[in-house]
Amino acid sequence: MSDSLGVTTKNGGIMSGEKKLRTAAVILAAGSGKRMGSNTKKQYMLIAGKPIIYYPLKTFQESFVDEIVLVVSPGDIAYCKKEIVERYGFSKVRHIVEGGKERYHSVAIGLDHINSCEFVFIHDGARPVVTKDILERALCCVREFKACVVGMPVKDTIKIADKEGFIASTPDRKLVWTIQTPQVFSLPLIKEAYHSLMQKEKALLKEGLSVTDDAMVVETLTGHPVRLVYGSYENIKITTPEDIQIAENFLFPAK
Ligand code: C5P
Repeated sequence: MSDSLGVTTKNGGIMSGEKKLRTAAVILAAGSGKRMGSNTKKQYMLIAGKPIIYYPLKTFQESFVDEIVLVVSPGDIAYCKKEIVERYGFSKVRHIVEGGKERYHSVAIGLDHINSCEFVFIHDGARPVVTKDILERALCCVREFKACVVGMPVKDTIKIADKEGFIASTPDRKLVWTIQTPQVFSLPLIKEAYHSLMQKEKALLKEGLSVTDDAMVVETLTGHPVRLVYGSYENIKITTPEDIQIAENFLFPAK
């Protein structure tokens, strides 16, 4: 069974009677959140009285995912253990580890703590509106393609600019997606990609590679194709202060 671009359900999710697939998640919360302009790191800012990081952890905790590695900023391990993981009973969190300077360093550190599963979900802790449906769609997709990222087709027309600020080209809107997380991969594939990235990091940075998501790492370092799958327009990343109110409206829609 397969529907429109990006959502493939050929093999279904976890079928009854089938052996359960073991899945893990790396949830990233080691960013500094500079664009938030607040003294509180954005992952700990409150939505309806709970820290932002509570919401994605709750969705993963209540999902089919078996284990979670939570990646936090240096110095935050004790706080996260007591105030978040223990307080809210997130029993699937097996490791809380310190992240690195860039997002991709944090992912590499998180992956080092995952050894026995078939698929890994890498998720930005700053996306609190991730849902069970998104996780299930991504699982269906990764089972078939070994690599998939959640995103949505753009609604606006996108322009590629030149360095002088003039329009250089206009890509076909039907083929342009904004990319979200989770990004989901077979464990050997994502380990190979990140291992290779860390080995070649200096040379790649010299060439100007700027790593902003995990799909890029897989595409560039392994050549393995990455399938797109629908996330949702609500699965926003909290980046600037107005995003908090938007996320709150999505999490708690008015009746
Ligand atoms: O900075 P940005 O908003 O793109 O970060 C996306 C996610 O990656 C956030 O959840 C952030 O906490 C995380 N991150 C991280 N380690 C870094 C930078 C970002 O875990 N060094």
